[in-house]
Amino acid sequence: MKYPIAHNFIAGKMVAGQGETLEVFSPTTGEVLSAVHLSETSEVSQAVASAQAAFPEWSGMPIKERVQIFYHYKTLLEQHLEQLAQLIVEENGKTLDEARAEVLKAVEVTEFACALPQLFPGEIEEVSKGVECRSERQPLGVVACITPFNFPNMVPNWTIPNVLAIGNTMLLKPSELVPLSANRIAELLRQAGLPDGVFNVIHGGQKAVEAICDHPGIEAVSFVGSTRVAKLVYQRATAKFKRALALGGAKNHLVVLPDAHTGMTASNVAASMTGCAGQRCMAASALVAVGPVDHIIEQLCREAGKIVPGKNLGAIISKQAKARIENYIAEAEKQGANVILDGRNISVPGHENGYWLGPTIIDQVTPDMPIAQEEVFGPVLAILRAPTLDKAIEIENSSPYGNAAAIFTQSGGLAKYFSERASAGMIGVNIGVPVPREPFSFGGWNQSKFGSGDITGKSSIEFWTKLKKTTIKWNPEARSNWMS
Ligand code: NAD
Repeated sequence: MKYPIAHNFIAGKMVAGQGETLEVFSPTTGEVLSAVHLSETSEVSQAVASAQAAFPEWSGMPIKERVQIFYHYKTLLEQHLEQLAQLIVEENGKTLDEARAEVLKAVEVTEFACALPQLFPGEIEEVSKGVECRSERQPLGVVACITPFNFPNMVPNWTIPNVLAIGNTMLLKPSELVPLSANRIAELLRQAGLPDGVFNVIHGGQKAVEAICDHPGIEAVSFVGSTRVAKLVYQRATAKFKRALALGGAKNHLVVLPDAHTGMTASNVAASMTGCAGQRCMAASALVAVGPVDHIIEQLCREAGKIVPGKNLGAIISKQAKARIENYIAEAEKQGANVILDGRNISVPGHENGYWLGPTIIDQVTPDMPIAQEEVFGPVLAILRAPTLDKAIEIENSSPYGNAAAIFTQSGGLAKYFSERASAGMIGVNIGVPVPREPFSFGGWNQSKFGSGDITGKSSIEFWTKLKKTTIKWNPEARSNWMS
């Protein structure tokens, strides 16, 4: 075991967990990398108590002082970029370039948090003679963020800088599959000067999440993960009258029109379906081919064929996940679909026990097949054929999800027509992974998100704060209207 067991981080210290222990595997080698305790309800309560104790002093600091810590944190993320990226590679299995990009996005979100005093200074207006109304955003108190395996550094950082800079204190419950990055983040926050107790890490699975949803001391919960669990968390947290925002899974459609630029479309779609080995909620999962686009599909297969496991394609998170993805491919084949690029049975020399799957493209998929409807979460692209753009939009609209959708065309009019009608929160025009950059916020629609608002950017600030409105009469003079 290369790394010692991952402890909880409570009140500024690593604290040994009491619950059952789970092994953490390296997806690229299949070897045991570390282990993690699955926290009990009592350990969640300890972390809440630590965050509650830290809240008065932290929230009482002026925001301009609080963000100084995040300027330091941003510098530390940059200084430790290679080390943080390497840790992501080890526990998640993605490529080093992808891991670096993940940390750089964490840096960008931190920059946004540093700008909060400039972006949200509050409002004031004289509403009547001698009478002012002012509004200001105040922190909620103790909040909790529950994160998935696929971005061990970036997704926790979608929330950490904004949540804390605003004055909340928090618990992070990372995925038990990737506990190491979370603890490294805790160390860097401490090094940046964050007071003890403001940020706490609770490791674990279902039991820890349920304890978070139920704990009366937690005011709000954000969740990022599968739709199945997003629904459970949203229901359980809101039943306890907490604010909740739960981001779920996805099935992203990329519509390709005959006038699309061949080279750009092929390389963009190939990158979208294979980036992070298809294990990201923005990955291209279904290509809807409108009319005669075989020349683009042929080029796409050539581009995807250049993406090689162990070189420029990362591993699948677990043996079970790999088997699940392969099952989708086999089922589609049985139902009459045509595998035109097959990534199965691939071995990476020197890493034969890793969980590898090469890019896989499946043509002649029909809308009724599970591979067309469900989230596969691997480097697999299903091609559906549509005679018209309207039919393609109908296919996209029929998905219960709504994270991202994209169109590839050189016609501005058709791109606009599609972007107005696609039922997704994030739209791409000639871009396969339409992740909005800060300050634009990240969040899908339909069953890809439960709750209102988005998880990053300006939209997240409303979620993590409550608005106080104060009306002040400065003028003792006689009234000039009903208010003054
Ligand atoms: P997951 O739902 O299995 O796990 C997410 C979190 O929930 C983890 O912390 C896990 O410990 C916890 N959890 C798991 N089962 C639970 C249960 N029964 N009750 C309570 N908590 C439970 O998701 P994952 O496999 O880690 O991540 C992949 C999923 O996340 C994909 O569906 C992907 O699309 C989604 N995702 C969505 C976004 C987005 O922005 N919409 C971003 C990243 C990942």
